[in-house]
Amino acid sequence: MGPQAATRGCITLPMRDELSRTDPEIASLLQLEQERQRSKIRLIPSENYVSAAVLAASGSILTNKYSEGYPGRRYYEGQQYIDAIEQLCIDRAKALFGVEHANVQPYSGSPANLAVYLAFCQPGDTILGLGLPHGGHLTHGWNVSISGKYFRSVAYGVRRDTGRIDMDQVADLARAHRPKLIWCGGTAVPRIIDFAAFADIARSVGALLVADIAHIAGLVAGGAHPSPVGYAPVITTTTHKTLRGPRGGMILCTAEHAQAIDRAVFPGLQGGPHNHNIAGLAVALREAAGESFRQYAHQVVRNARALAEALLARGYDLVSGGTDNHLILIDLTRKGVTGKRAARALDRAGLETNYNTVPFDPRKPFDPSGLRIGTPAVTSRGMLEPEMELIAGWIDRALEAERRGDEQALDRIGAEVREMTVRFPAPGL
Ligand SMILES: *Cc1c(COP(=O)(O)O)cnc(C)c1O
Repeated sequence: MGPQAATRGCITLPMRDELSRTDPEIASLLQLEQERQRSKIRLIPSENYVSAAVLAASGSILTNKYSEGYPGRRYYEGQQYIDAIEQLCIDRAKALFGVEHANVQPYSGSPANLAVYLAFCQPGDTILGLGLPHGGHLTHGWNVSISGKYFRSVAYGVRRDTGRIDMDQVADLARAHRPKLIWCGGTAVPRIIDFAAFADIARSVGALLVADIAHIAGLVAGGAHPSPVGYAPVITTTTHKTLRGPRGGMILCTAEHAQAIDRAVFPGLQGGPHNHNIAGLAVALREAAGESFRQYAHQVVRNARALAEALLARGYDLVSGGTDNHLILIDLTRKGVTGKRAARALDRAGLETNYNTVPFDPRKPFDPSGLRIGTPAVTSRGMLEPEMELIAGWIDRALEAERRGDEQALDRIGAEVREMTVRFPAPGL
């Protein structure tokens, strides 16, 4: 692979030819998915476009190597280069977030959270987390997840009047239940997390505070959201959302908890680390330390604010009335269309979103009242505030068309969307 091929990412032309010869079915589906990612306006807030450099590292021969253990302490030979890669990744994570220890081996965000339980809790212990219907993650104690089955889980929520996390309730529940561990962070939280307030509550009841920054890690790294460092001694994250790395997970912690975390990840929970993803993460962390990523993170937030204001101007109800971060939760109740119908119609019109419950949703999770959107991916394509205004207009027209049952109107919007996306080449494609 020449240097020029490398800059085009993992799907270089020779590699693509090889894939087409070996497996034409997968090659053609991959090609179609690439085209879909190119031509759609991708508004799912947990998704992004990684760079060609991240693709090149994660789609590499590093997948061939087994490396159980940690740099310098492996159970397999031949780690000369793997050790150097993982150590670089660890050092970059520590420097970027300003933490004493980083474990970069979790396969994804959910396994990272499971490793935290294994490190600090016994089955049956009480844990406190944001309830799923109020924007929390499954792994923070929801009943269908192992975290709700193996632990005694208590959930806090948001206030009905403000749509913001009810910190009085967090304090009351912490005092009443004395949890071993308190989670802060979530998957559908449009507002800044008050890490200092959570830290005070955790300290007052002797609980371990864990910040799950899966959604906002890139904003934290880029200085567009306050950091939990100094408040939460343990921090978990995914690597593929706003952080714009390959799929994976990461645990950041104080030196005090380093050994417990490392033992929980391996040998407690996992076998060999996914070296190709760790290399891709190292590249992403290097990118995230640069000035252009800082600008990116701030633009993600500015774009979300612009999109929220454009939706408010069109009469949409937003949970908490707006956003401080990359994410917007629309309550469609007054718009006369359910979340699922809305998401389907928008997808047909070229706008990819996901339906979501809103706090106190009277509808079922499989067809809830809300729509979750966000700006990480569109900002990676270089879209700015004027494009957010266009997107809000398309969303509004598409939902209006859906209420009329006008599929042709949806297709017309789709054509306009495609025309606009051509002007914003997506990284890595
Ligand atoms: C996405 C997410 C996770 C889980 O990540 P996966 O990689 O999907 O397992 C965990 N916590 C939060 C808050 C998330 O948003």
